[in-house]
Amino acid sequence: MPTSEPDRVPGRRAARLAVVDPATGETFGEAPDQQPDELDAVVDRAHRAWHGWRADPVARTTALRAAADAVETAGDDLARLLTREQGKPLAESYAEIARTAARLRYFADLAPRTRRITDGRPMHSEIRWRPLGPVAAIVPWNFPLQLAAAKFAPALAAGNTMVLKPSPFTPLATRLLGSVLATALPEDVLTVVTGREPLGARLASHPGIRHVTFTGSVPTGRAVAEAAAASLARVTLELGGNDAAVLLDDVEVDRIADRLFWAAFRNCGQVCMAVKRVYAPARLHAEVVEALAQRAKTVAVGPGLNAETRLGPVNNAPQLARVEQVTKQALADGARAAAGGHRLDGPGYFFAPTILTDVPPSSPVVAEEQFGPVLPVLPYRRLDEAVAAANGTGFGLGGSVWGTDLDRAEAVADRLECGTAWINHHAELSLAQPFAGVKNSGVGVAGGLWGLYGNLRPFVVHRPQEA
Ligand code: NAD
Repeated sequence: MPTSEPDRVPGRRAARLAVVDPATGETFGEAPDQQPDELDAVVDRAHRAWHGWRADPVARTTALRAAADAVETAGDDLARLLTREQGKPLAESYAEIARTAARLRYFADLAPRTRRITDGRPMHSEIRWRPLGPVAAIVPWNFPLQLAAAKFAPALAAGNTMVLKPSPFTPLATRLLGSVLATALPEDVLTVVTGREPLGARLASHPGIRHVTFTGSVPTGRAVAEAAAASLARVTLELGGNDAAVLLDDVEVDRIADRLFWAAFRNCGQVCMAVKRVYAPARLHAEVVEALAQRAKTVAVGPGLNAETRLGPVNNAPQLARVEQVTKQALADGARAAAGGHRLDGPGYFFAPTILTDVPPSSPVVAEEQFGPVLPVLPYRRLDEAVAAANGTGFGLGGSVWGTDLDRAEAVADRLECGTAWINHHAELSLAQPFAGVKNSGVGVAGGLWGLYGNLRPFVVHRPQEA
Protein backbone atom coordinates (compact mmCIF):
# COMPACT_ATOMS: atom_id res chain seq x y z
CA MET A 1 0.00 0.00 0.00
CA PRO A 2 1.46 3.38 -0.88
CA THR A 3 1.73 5.57 2.15
CA SER A 4 1.99 9.30 2.50
CA GLU A 5 5.48 10.47 3.31
CA PRO A 6 7.26 11.88 6.37
CA ASP A 7 7.05 15.50 7.41
CA ARG A 8 9.60 17.94 6.22
CA VAL A 9 11.85 19.49 8.84
CA PRO A 10 10.14 22.84 9.70
CA GLY A 11 12.00 25.88 8.43
CA ARG A 12 14.08 23.94 5.93
CA ARG A 13 11.51 23.00 3.36
CA ALA A 14 12.63 20.81 0.52
CA ALA A 15 16.07 20.27 2.03
CA ARG A 16 15.90 17.52 4.66
CA LEU A 17 13.73 14.55 5.54
CA ALA A 18 12.75 14.27 9.19
CA VAL A 19 13.20 10.70 10.48
CA VAL A 20 10.86 9.55 13.24
CA ASP A 21 11.53 6.91 15.89
CA PRO A 22 8.34 4.81 15.70
CA ALA A 23 8.77 3.74 19.32
CA THR A 24 8.29 7.35 20.48
CA GLY A 25 6.67 9.12 17.53
CA GLU A 26 9.40 11.74 17.78
CA THR A 27 11.86 12.98 15.20
CA PHE A 28 15.38 11.89 16.03
CA GLY A 29 17.32 12.41 12.82
CA GLU A 30 17.27 13.75 9.32
CA ALA A 31 18.51 12.91 5.86
CA PRO A 32 18.90 14.87 2.63
CA ASP A 33 15.69 15.37 0.70
CA GLN A 34 17.36 15.09 -2.69
CA GLN A 35 15.61 16.50 -5.70
CA PRO A 36 15.08 14.78 -9.06
CA ASP A 37 17.43 17.15 -10.87
CA GLU A 38 20.32 15.94 -8.69
CA LEU A 39 20.14 12.52 -10.33
CA ASP A 40 21.79 13.45 -13.63
CA ALA A 41 25.16 13.95 -11.96
CA VAL A 42 24.72 10.82 -9.79
CA VAL A 43 23.88 8.59 -12.76
CA ASP A 44 26.70 10.13 -14.78
CA ARG A 45 29.20 9.22 -12.04
CA ALA A 46 27.73 5.71 -11.79
CA HIS A 47 28.22 5.37 -15.53
CA ARG A 48 31.86 6.42 -15.34
CA ALA A 49 32.50 4.05 -12.43
CA TRP A 50 30.91 1.21 -14.40
CA HIS A 51 33.74 1.03 -16.94
CA GLY A 52 36.28 0.10 -14.29
CA TRP A 53 33.93 -2.06 -12.20
CA ARG A 54 32.76 -4.23 -15.08
CA ALA A 55 36.29 -4.93 -16.29
CA ASP A 56 37.66 -7.15 -13.53
CA PRO A 57 35.53 -9.95 -12.04
CA VAL A 58 38.29 -11.05 -9.67
CA ALA A 59 38.57 -7.56 -8.19
CA ARG A 60 34.79 -7.51 -7.84
CA THR A 61 34.77 -10.74 -5.86
CA THR A 62 37.48 -9.41 -3.56
CA ALA A 63 35.68 -6.09 -3.06
CA LEU A 64 32.30 -7.71 -2.36
CA ARG A 65 33.82 -10.08 0.20
CA ALA A 66 35.52 -7.11 1.86
CA ALA A 67 32.17 -5.29 1.81
CA ALA A 68 30.57 -8.20 3.69
CA ASP A 69 33.32 -8.04 6.32
CA ALA A 70 32.84 -4.27 6.66
CA VAL A 71 29.09 -4.71 7.21
CA GLU A 72 29.73 -7.19 10.01
CA THR A 73 32.33 -4.94 11.62
CA ALA A 74 29.83 -2.06 11.65
CA GLY A 75 27.06 -4.38 12.90
CA ASP A 76 26.46 -2.70 16.26
CA ASP A 77 26.04 0.80 14.82
CA LEU A 78 23.92 -0.42 11.92
CA ALA A 79 21.67 -2.51 14.17
CA ARG A 80 20.94 0.28 16.65
CA LEU A 81 20.19 2.77 13.90
CA LEU A 82 18.00 0.29 12.05
CA THR A 83 15.97 -0.43 15.18
CA ARG A 84 15.70 3.26 15.95
CA GLU A 85 14.22 4.23 12.59
CA GLN A 86 12.41 1.01 11.66
CA GLY A 87 11.19 -0.12 15.08
CA LYS A 88 12.09 -3.83 14.93
CA PRO A 89 13.61 -5.55 17.98
CA LEU A 90 17.39 -5.25 18.12
CA ALA A 91 17.88 -9.01 17.67
CA GLU A 92 15.94 -8.78 14.40
CA SER A 93 18.12 -5.89 13.26
CA TYR A 94 21.22 -7.97 13.91
CA ALA A 95 19.65 -10.81 11.92
CA GLU A 96 18.91 -8.41 9.07
CA ILE A 97 22.53 -7.24 9.05
CA ALA A 98 23.77 -10.83 9.04
CA ARG A 99 21.54 -11.49 6.03
CA THR A 100 22.91 -8.36 4.33
CA ALA A 101 26.49 -9.61 4.72
CA ALA A 102 25.46 -13.13 3.67
CA ARG A 103 24.00 -11.81 0.42
CA LEU A 104 27.22 -9.97 -0.39
CA ARG A 105 29.28 -13.12 0.24
CA TYR A 106 26.94 -15.37 -1.69
CA PHE A 107 26.89 -13.24 -4.82
CA ALA A 108 30.60 -12.38 -4.57
CA ASP A 109 31.30 -16.01 -5.51
CA LEU A 110 28.58 -16.48 -8.11
CA ALA A 111 29.49 -16.18 -11.78
CA PRO A 112 27.45 -16.65 -14.94
CA ARG A 113 28.31 -19.57 -17.15
CA THR A 114 29.52 -19.12 -20.69
CA ARG A 115 27.80 -21.68 -22.90
CA ARG A 116 28.58 -22.95 -26.34
CA ILE A 117 25.73 -24.07 -28.57
CA THR A 118 26.08 -26.16 -31.72
CA ASP A 119 23.19 -27.18 -33.93
CA GLY A 120 24.78 -29.47 -36.50
CA ARG A 121 25.95 -26.71 -38.82
CA PRO A 122 29.69 -26.03 -39.10
CA MET A 123 29.49 -23.12 -36.70
CA HIS A 124 28.87 -22.56 -33.04
CA SER A 125 27.42 -19.81 -30.89
CA GLU A 126 29.03 -18.78 -27.67
CA ILE A 127 26.80 -17.14 -25.09
CA ARG A 128 28.64 -14.73 -22.85
CA TRP A 129 26.99 -12.59 -20.21
CA ARG A 130 27.46 -8.84 -20.02
CA PRO A 131 26.45 -6.36 -17.33
CA LEU A 132 23.73 -3.85 -18.13
CA GLY A 133 25.26 -0.58 -16.93
CA PRO A 134 24.11 1.66 -14.08
CA VAL A 135 20.98 0.17 -12.50
CA ALA A 136 18.56 1.49 -9.88
CA ALA A 137 17.09 -0.06 -6.75
CA ILE A 138 14.06 1.38 -4.93
CA VAL A 139 13.15 -0.29 -1.65
CA PRO A 140 10.54 -0.03 1.15
CA TRP A 141 10.82 0.50 4.89
CA ASN A 142 10.17 -2.98 6.31
CA PHE A 143 13.64 -4.52 5.73
CA PRO A 144 15.65 -1.54 4.49
CA LEU A 145 19.08 -3.19 4.54
CA GLN A 146 18.40 -6.76 3.57
CA LEU A 147 16.06 -5.84 0.70
CA ALA A 148 18.64 -3.36 -0.57
CA ALA A 149 21.32 -6.07 -0.35
CA ALA A 150 19.08 -8.50 -2.24
CA LYS A 151 19.33 -5.97 -5.07
CA PHE A 152 22.84 -4.53 -4.88
CA ALA A 153 24.66 -7.82 -4.20
CA PRO A 154 23.61 -9.51 -7.49
CA ALA A 155 23.71 -6.26 -9.46
CA LEU A 156 27.25 -5.40 -8.40
CA ALA A 157 28.44 -9.01 -8.69
CA ALA A 158 27.19 -8.97 -12.28
CA GLY A 159 29.37 -5.92 -12.98
CA ASN A 160 26.76 -3.17 -12.85
CA THR A 161 26.93 -0.05 -10.75
CA MET A 162 23.90 1.01 -8.73
CA VAL A 163 21.94 3.98 -7.47
CA LEU A 164 19.92 2.92 -4.41
CA LYS A 165 16.93 4.78 -3.00
CA PRO A 166 15.58 3.72 0.42
CA SER A 167 12.17 4.69 1.73
CA PRO A 168 11.99 8.22 3.15
CA PHE A 169 10.80 6.58 6.39
CA THR A 170 14.06 4.66 6.78
CA PRO A 171 16.93 6.50 5.08
CA LEU A 172 19.46 6.56 7.91
CA ALA A 173 20.62 2.96 8.27
CA THR A 174 20.87 2.75 4.48
CA ARG A 175 23.02 5.89 4.37
CA LEU A 176 25.25 4.43 7.05
CA LEU A 177 25.40 1.15 5.12
CA GLY A 178 26.38 3.14 2.01
CA SER A 179 29.33 4.71 3.81
CA VAL A 180 30.36 1.35 5.27
CA LEU A 181 30.30 -0.23 1.81
CA ALA A 182 32.26 2.71 0.40
CA THR A 183 35.24 1.57 2.49
CA ALA A 184 35.37 -1.62 0.40
CA LEU A 185 33.99 -0.64 -3.01
CA PRO A 186 35.46 1.74 -5.61
CA GLU A 187 33.97 5.22 -5.66
CA ASP A 188 30.49 5.60 -7.21
CA VAL A 189 29.94 1.87 -7.63
CA LEU A 190 27.06 2.13 -5.16
CA THR A 191 25.42 5.49 -4.44
CA VAL A 192 22.63 5.97 -1.90
CA VAL A 193 20.19 8.78 -2.68
CA THR A 194 17.43 9.82 -0.28
CA GLY A 195 14.22 11.64 -1.03
CA ARG A 196 10.54 11.33 -1.74
CA GLU A 197 8.30 10.01 -4.46
CA PRO A 198 9.48 12.44 -7.22
CA LEU A 199 13.07 11.29 -6.68
CA GLY A 200 11.98 7.64 -7.06
CA ALA A 201 9.90 8.46 -10.12
CA ARG A 202 12.83 10.23 -11.79
CA LEU A 203 15.20 7.42 -10.91
CA ALA A 204 12.81 4.90 -12.49
CA SER A 205 12.55 6.93 -15.71
CA HIS A 206 16.16 8.14 -15.94
CA PRO A 207 17.58 7.48 -19.42
CA GLY A 208 20.95 6.45 -17.98
CA ILE A 209 19.47 3.60 -15.90
CA ARG A 210 19.28 0.18 -17.59
CA HIS A 211 17.42 -1.88 -14.98
CA VAL A 212 14.99 -0.74 -12.31
CA THR A 213 14.56 -3.19 -9.51
CA PHE A 214 11.77 -2.25 -7.14
CA THR A 215 10.30 -3.69 -3.96
CA GLY A 216 7.16 -2.14 -2.55
CA SER A 217 3.43 -1.90 -3.00
CA VAL A 218 1.42 -2.84 -6.08
CA PRO A 219 0.29 0.71 -7.00
CA THR A 220 3.83 2.07 -6.74
CA GLY A 221 5.13 -0.92 -8.70
CA ARG A 222 2.76 -0.01 -11.52
CA ALA A 223 3.97 3.60 -11.43
CA VAL A 224 7.58 2.41 -11.54
CA ALA A 225 6.89 0.15 -14.54
CA GLU A 226 5.21 3.04 -16.35
CA ALA A 227 8.10 5.38 -15.54
CA ALA A 228 10.70 2.85 -16.69
CA ALA A 229 8.84 2.44 -19.98
CA ALA A 230 10.13 5.91 -20.90
CA SER A 231 13.66 4.56 -21.32
CA LEU A 232 12.63 0.92 -21.93
CA ALA A 233 14.77 -0.10 -18.96
CA ARG A 234 14.37 -3.66 -17.69
CA VAL A 235 12.04 -3.85 -14.68
CA THR A 236 11.95 -6.30 -11.79
CA LEU A 237 9.05 -5.79 -9.38
CA GLU A 238 8.72 -7.50 -6.00
CA LEU A 239 5.33 -6.41 -4.76
CA GLY A 240 2.78 -7.07 -2.07
CA GLY A 241 1.41 -10.36 -0.87
CA ASN A 242 -1.61 -11.76 0.95
CA ASP A 243 -0.23 -15.18 1.82
CA ALA A 244 -2.61 -17.80 3.15
CA ALA A 245 -1.73 -20.56 5.59
CA VAL A 246 -3.99 -23.57 5.02
CA LEU A 247 -4.16 -25.89 8.04
CA LEU A 248 -5.11 -29.50 7.29
CA ASP A 249 -7.30 -31.64 9.53
CA ASP A 250 -4.35 -33.72 10.77
CA VAL A 251 -2.43 -30.67 12.00
CA GLU A 252 -1.20 -30.75 15.59
CA VAL A 253 -2.10 -27.27 16.74
CA ASP A 254 0.19 -27.23 19.79
CA ARG A 255 3.18 -28.21 17.69
CA ILE A 256 2.76 -25.55 15.01
CA ALA A 257 1.21 -22.64 16.93
CA ASP A 258 4.48 -20.85 17.74
CA ARG A 259 5.80 -21.14 14.19
CA LEU A 260 2.48 -20.03 12.73
CA PHE A 261 2.25 -17.08 15.11
CA TRP A 262 5.71 -15.81 14.20
CA ALA A 263 5.13 -16.40 10.51
CA ALA A 264 2.38 -13.80 10.83
CA PHE A 265 3.80 -11.41 13.44
CA ARG A 266 7.55 -11.24 12.80
CA ASN A 267 8.65 -7.67 12.10
CA CYS A 268 5.21 -6.64 13.43
CA GLY A 269 3.53 -8.32 10.46
CA GLN A 270 5.31 -5.98 8.06
CA VAL A 271 6.68 -8.72 5.83
CA CYS A 272 5.66 -9.11 2.20
CA MET A 273 5.43 -12.89 2.63
CA ALA A 274 4.02 -12.98 6.16
CA VAL A 275 1.06 -15.24 6.80
CA LYS A 276 -1.78 -12.75 6.35
CA ARG A 277 -4.75 -15.16 6.49
CA VAL A 278 -5.20 -18.52 8.23
CA TYR A 279 -7.68 -21.12 6.99
CA ALA A 280 -8.42 -23.76 9.65
CA PRO A 281 -10.73 -26.80 9.45
CA ALA A 282 -13.99 -25.86 11.21
CA ARG A 283 -13.42 -28.63 13.77
CA LEU A 284 -10.07 -27.11 14.82
CA HIS A 285 -10.92 -23.45 14.33
CA ALA A 286 -11.59 -22.57 17.99
CA GLU A 287 -8.41 -24.35 19.11
CA VAL A 288 -6.31 -22.48 16.53
CA VAL A 289 -7.83 -19.12 17.47
CA GLU A 290 -7.21 -19.82 21.14
CA ALA A 291 -3.58 -20.89 20.60
CA LEU A 292 -2.80 -17.79 18.51
CA ALA A 293 -4.74 -15.41 20.79
CA GLN A 294 -2.93 -16.68 23.86
CA ARG A 295 0.40 -15.86 22.19
CA ALA A 296 -0.84 -12.47 20.96
CA LYS A 297 -1.93 -11.52 24.48
CA THR A 298 1.35 -12.46 26.12
CA VAL A 299 4.05 -11.52 23.60
CA ALA A 300 6.31 -8.69 24.84
CA VAL A 301 5.45 -5.55 22.84
CA GLY A 302 7.66 -2.50 23.26
CA PRO A 303 10.48 -0.34 21.91
CA GLY A 304 12.89 -2.40 19.81
CA LEU A 305 15.87 -1.26 21.87
CA ASN A 306 14.46 -2.91 25.04
CA ALA A 307 16.09 -6.29 25.50
CA GLU A 308 12.85 -8.12 26.35
CA THR A 309 10.85 -6.81 23.34
CA ARG A 310 9.70 -9.38 20.80
CA LEU A 311 7.28 -7.14 18.86
CA GLY A 312 8.05 -3.51 18.09
CA PRO A 313 5.85 -0.70 16.80
CA VAL A 314 4.39 -0.29 13.33
CA ASN A 315 6.95 1.67 11.32
CA ASN A 316 5.07 4.87 10.51
CA ALA A 317 1.94 6.86 11.23
CA PRO A 318 0.17 6.31 7.86
CA GLN A 319 0.74 2.56 8.13
CA LEU A 320 -0.58 2.54 11.70
CA ALA A 321 -3.67 4.37 10.47
CA ARG A 322 -4.10 1.75 7.74
CA VAL A 323 -3.82 -1.15 10.23
CA GLU A 324 -6.31 0.55 12.54
CA GLN A 325 -8.70 1.22 9.69
CA VAL A 326 -8.79 -2.37 8.34
CA THR A 327 -9.25 -3.69 11.88
CA LYS A 328 -12.11 -1.31 12.63
CA GLN A 329 -13.70 -2.20 9.32
CA ALA A 330 -13.46 -5.92 10.14
CA LEU A 331 -15.06 -5.35 13.56
CA ALA A 332 -17.79 -3.30 11.88
CA ASP A 333 -18.26 -6.15 9.39
CA GLY A 334 -19.03 -8.53 12.28
CA ALA A 335 -15.58 -9.82 13.27
CA ARG A 336 -14.59 -10.48 16.87
CA ALA A 337 -11.16 -9.75 18.29
CA ALA A 338 -9.94 -12.82 20.19
CA ALA A 339 -6.90 -10.71 21.08
CA GLY A 340 -6.11 -7.02 20.59
CA GLY A 341 -8.16 -5.06 18.08
CA HIS A 342 -6.92 -1.59 19.00
CA ARG A 343 -3.96 0.78 19.25
CA LEU A 344 -1.98 0.77 22.45
CA ASP A 345 -2.04 3.82 24.70
CA GLY A 346 1.06 5.91 25.07
CA PRO A 347 3.57 7.36 22.66
CA GLY A 348 4.75 5.60 19.53
CA TYR A 349 3.01 3.65 16.80
CA PHE A 350 2.04 0.56 18.79
CA PHE A 351 -0.88 -1.68 17.87
CA ALA A 352 -1.98 -4.59 20.05
CA PRO A 353 -1.23 -7.94 18.38
CA THR A 354 -4.63 -8.90 17.04
CA ILE A 355 -6.33 -12.18 16.23
CA LEU A 356 -9.66 -11.81 14.43
CA THR A 357 -12.36 -14.41 14.05
CA ASP A 358 -15.81 -14.38 12.38
CA VAL A 359 -14.41 -12.14 9.65
CA PRO A 360 -16.38 -12.00 6.38
CA PRO A 361 -14.05 -12.97 3.50
CA SER A 362 -14.86 -9.72 1.73
CA SER A 363 -13.57 -7.59 4.60
CA PRO A 364 -10.36 -5.75 3.57
CA VAL A 365 -8.31 -7.45 6.32
CA VAL A 366 -8.86 -10.71 4.39
CA ALA A 367 -9.21 -9.50 0.82
CA GLU A 368 -6.33 -7.00 0.87
CA GLU A 369 -2.87 -6.77 2.39
CA GLN A 370 -3.04 -5.54 6.02
CA PHE A 371 0.77 -5.36 6.50
CA GLY A 372 0.67 -5.13 10.28
CA PRO A 373 0.11 -7.13 13.50
CA VAL A 374 -3.42 -8.31 12.68
CA LEU A 375 -4.34 -11.84 11.63
CA PRO A 376 -7.75 -13.17 10.56
CA VAL A 377 -8.45 -16.88 11.18
CA LEU A 378 -11.16 -18.31 8.94
CA PRO A 379 -12.89 -21.71 9.24
CA TYR A 380 -13.47 -24.01 6.27
CA ARG A 381 -15.52 -27.18 5.81
CA ARG A 382 -14.14 -28.62 2.56
CA LEU A 383 -10.49 -28.47 1.61
CA ASP A 384 -11.36 -27.34 -1.92
CA GLU A 385 -13.03 -24.28 -0.41
CA ALA A 386 -9.88 -23.40 1.50
CA VAL A 387 -7.66 -23.80 -1.57
CA ALA A 388 -10.04 -21.69 -3.66
CA ALA A 389 -10.07 -18.99 -0.98
CA ALA A 390 -6.26 -19.08 -0.63
CA ASN A 391 -6.01 -18.56 -4.41
CA GLY A 392 -8.87 -16.10 -4.52
CA THR A 393 -7.08 -12.76 -4.25
CA GLY A 394 -5.14 -10.71 -6.77
CA PHE A 395 -1.89 -11.61 -5.00
CA GLY A 396 0.36 -14.63 -5.45
CA LEU A 397 3.55 -14.20 -3.48
CA GLY A 398 3.65 -17.22 -1.14
CA GLY A 399 1.46 -19.66 0.74
CA SER A 400 1.79 -22.55 3.17
CA VAL A 401 0.14 -25.81 4.11
CA TRP A 402 0.34 -27.25 7.62
CA GLY A 403 -0.31 -30.88 8.55
CA THR A 404 1.20 -34.14 9.76
CA ASP A 405 1.05 -36.16 6.52
CA LEU A 406 3.76 -34.37 4.53
CA ASP A 407 2.88 -35.98 1.19
CA ARG A 408 -0.70 -34.89 1.49
CA ALA A 409 0.39 -31.41 2.56
CA GLU A 410 2.68 -31.21 -0.44
CA ALA A 411 -0.13 -32.23 -2.79
CA VAL A 412 -2.21 -29.35 -1.43
CA ALA A 413 0.75 -26.95 -1.60
CA ASP A 414 1.12 -27.84 -5.28
CA ARG A 415 -2.33 -26.34 -5.89
CA LEU A 416 -1.42 -22.90 -4.50
CA GLU A 417 -1.10 -20.16 -7.12
CA CYS A 418 1.98 -18.40 -5.84
CA GLY A 419 5.75 -18.16 -6.24
CA THR A 420 6.78 -20.12 -3.14
CA ALA A 421 4.78 -22.66 -1.13
CA TRP A 422 6.00 -23.90 2.23
CA ILE A 423 5.00 -26.92 4.28
CA ASN A 424 4.79 -26.54 8.07
CA HIS A 425 6.62 -23.22 7.98
CA HIS A 426 6.44 -19.99 6.05
CA ALA A 427 8.74 -17.35 4.56
CA GLU A 428 11.96 -19.32 4.85
CA LEU A 429 14.17 -18.58 1.85
CA SER A 430 17.52 -19.86 0.76
CA LEU A 431 19.89 -17.49 -1.02
CA ALA A 432 20.19 -19.96 -3.90
CA GLN A 433 16.51 -20.25 -4.76
CA PRO A 434 14.49 -18.13 -7.20
CA PHE A 435 12.04 -15.69 -5.66
CA ALA A 436 9.14 -14.48 -7.76
CA GLY A 437 5.51 -13.60 -7.22
CA VAL A 438 2.65 -14.33 -9.60
CA LYS A 439 -0.42 -12.17 -10.40
CA ASN A 440 -0.04 -8.75 -8.78
CA SER A 441 2.82 -9.88 -6.55
CA GLY A 442 5.56 -9.30 -9.04
CA VAL A 443 7.33 -9.31 -12.35
CA GLY A 444 10.72 -10.93 -12.94
CA VAL A 445 12.76 -13.25 -10.77
CA ALA A 446 15.18 -12.46 -7.96
CA GLY A 447 17.41 -14.74 -5.91
CA GLY A 448 20.22 -17.17 -6.69
CA LEU A 449 21.49 -17.53 -10.23
CA TRP A 450 18.17 -16.13 -11.49
CA GLY A 451 18.88 -12.88 -9.65
CA LEU A 452 22.34 -12.75 -11.14
CA TYR A 453 21.10 -13.35 -14.70
CA GLY A 454 18.40 -10.73 -14.12
CA ASN A 455 21.25 -8.25 -13.95
CA LEU A 456 22.99 -9.46 -17.10
CA ARG A 457 22.29 -9.55 -20.81
CA PRO A 458 23.31 -12.32 -23.18
CA PHE A 459 25.93 -11.46 -25.74
CA VAL A 460 26.25 -14.07 -28.46
CA VAL A 461 29.22 -14.64 -30.75
CA HIS A 462 28.71 -16.88 -33.82
CA ARG A 463 31.76 -18.25 -35.50
CA PRO A 464 32.46 -20.92 -38.06
CA GLN A 465 34.27 -24.03 -36.85
CA GLU A 466 37.08 -23.52 -39.38
CA ALA A 467 38.68 -20.51 -41.00
P1 NAD B 1 5.74 1.86 -1.35
O1 NAD B 1 5.36 1.24 -2.65
O2 NAD B 1 4.91 2.93 -0.78
O3 NAD B 1 7.24 2.47 -1.44
C1 NAD B 1 8.34 1.70 -1.84
C2 NAD B 1 9.44 2.64 -2.34
O4 NAD B 1 9.00 3.30 -3.52
C3 NAD B 1 9.85 3.74 -1.37
O5 NAD B 1 11.25 3.92 -1.45
C4 NAD B 1 9.12 4.96 -1.94
O6 NAD B 1 9.72 6.19 -1.59
C5 NAD B 1 9.24 4.70 -3.42
N1 NAD B 1 8.26 5.40 -4.26
C6 NAD B 1 7.06 5.91 -3.91
N2 NAD B 1 6.43 6.41 -5.01
C7 NAD B 1 7.25 6.21 -6.07
C8 NAD B 1 7.16 6.47 -7.45
N3 NAD B 1 6.08 7.06 -7.99
N4 NAD B 1 8.17 6.09 -8.26
C9 NAD B 1 9.26 5.47 -7.75
N5 NAD B 1 9.42 5.19 -6.44
C10 NAD B 1 8.41 5.56 -5.60
O7 NAD B 1 5.88 0.62 -0.34
P2 NAD B 1 6.10 0.66 1.24
O8 NAD B 1 4.83 1.10 1.90
O9 NAD B 1 7.36 1.37 1.51
O10 NAD B 1 6.34 -0.91 1.52
C11 NAD B 1 5.34 -1.83 1.81
C12 NAD B 1 4.98 -2.67 0.59
O11 NAD B 1 6.15 -3.33 0.11
C13 NAD B 1 4.01 -3.79 0.91
O12 NAD B 1 3.03 -3.86 -0.09
C14 NAD B 1 4.86 -5.04 0.91
O13 NAD B 1 4.16 -6.23 0.65
C15 NAD B 1 5.82 -4.70 -0.17
N6 NAD B 1 7.02 -5.55 -0.07
C16 NAD B 1 7.23 -6.52 -1.02
C17 NAD B 1 8.33 -7.37 -0.93
C18 NAD B 1 8.60 -8.45 -1.94
O14 NAD B 1 9.73 -8.94 -2.00
N7 NAD B 1 7.64 -8.87 -2.73
C19 NAD B 1 9.23 -7.22 0.13
C20 NAD B 1 8.99 -6.22 1.09
C21 NAD B 1 7.87 -5.39 0.96
